[in-house]
Amino acid sequence: MWKGVIDKYKDFLPVTGSTPIITLNEGNTPLIYAPHLSKCIDAVTPELFLKYEGLNPTGSFKDRGMTLAISKAIEEKSNAVICASTGNTSASAASYSARAKIKCVVLIPKGAIALGKLAQALIHGAQVIAVDGNFDDALNLVKEITDKYPIKLVNSINPYRIEGQKTGAFEICDQLEGKHPDFHAIPVGNAGNITAYWKGYKEYREKGLITGLPKMLGFQAEGAAPIVRGKVVKNPKTIATAIRIGNPASWKKAELARDESGGLIDMVSDKEILDAYKMLADREGVFVEPASSASVAGVLKLSKTGYFKKVHNPKIVCVLTGHGLKDPDRAIKSVKEPKVVPTNLQSVLKEIGY
Ligand SMILES: *Cc1c(COP(=O)(O)O)cnc(C)c1O
Repeated sequence: MWKGVIDKYKDFLPVTGSTPIITLNEGNTPLIYAPHLSKCIDAVTPELFLKYEGLNPTGSFKDRGMTLAISKAIEEKSNAVICASTGNTSASAASYSARAKIKCVVLIPKGAIALGKLAQALIHGAQVIAVDGNFDDALNLVKEITDKYPIKLVNSINPYRIEGQKTGAFEICDQLEGKHPDFHAIPVGNAGNITAYWKGYKEYREKGLITGLPKMLGFQAEGAAPIVRGKVVKNPKTIATAIRIGNPASWKKAELARDESGGLIDMVSDKEILDAYKMLADREGVFVEPASSASVAGVLKLSKTGYFKKVHNPKIVCVLTGHGLKDPDRAIKSVKEPKVVPTNLQSVLKEIGY
């Protein structure tokens, strides 16, 4: 039986037999072959796979790291945690804290959180406080508070978060039956996840479980692309709220993942993000939140430059970080409203085209 990522990958994680495991059976998310997207890639027999992290218990990959962060907080006898969040970290922290019966405090940037995520933090009983600033301001406050008071920080600068998240890389290699992808595409916000995946791939290779490593392809949103531009972005702007980050916490580690792997970190426009978002939904049947589709948008952009042609039969994995229902407003804005017709058979049949 699947009992979550700590149980499955404990040999790779900083746990002992006496670590209490707080889990919601996260992980084990599907790696879905994408026939339409594979056809869009300019290369010889390309294969594109989607790692659908939206199917974790709270709807994003954050659960992989949160199970470990909260388990370690309990092991270390903490009774409260705090995070700054653009949404998914707070949803996950609130849920795992409820499970562990500890207090959870969330600082969010005022007005910049997708509705679904705020609902999650609140319904799980977290104390949510909106600050009149952006994510980076909220994170600075959280750092100051956790420096001075006995409350654990569970943002991705908590090393246990990264440790837990690296299990995503293990799963991909297990699902590819001991093979590693040639390219690993991923959205970049605070850059914890790209850091975690790179760590995971390297550890799997050290253990001889894979024979090589993927090139890491990170994608930021054009209006929130500090790593691409080489400088902090004061007022990051993008519809992809989960990657609306102007000063990534794991900036240097993301650059290391890029350089060690021979990959790149590039940016995509909101239009490219939304086009990929719609394509995933109406061509592949996979509903994600906008930030997630940055990985796919980036791969499509790169493909147009002939980037993937140099590898024969390239295997590309795009991480889809969060579920589409997190941001229902964006979905509604992206489609036509249902047409209203009179209540009779003829009118309905006429609309359908019979
Ligand atoms: C947190 C998050 C990201 C960004 O991940 P980082 O580790 O901050 O780079 C991207 N997409 C979604 C849906 C997220 O929740």
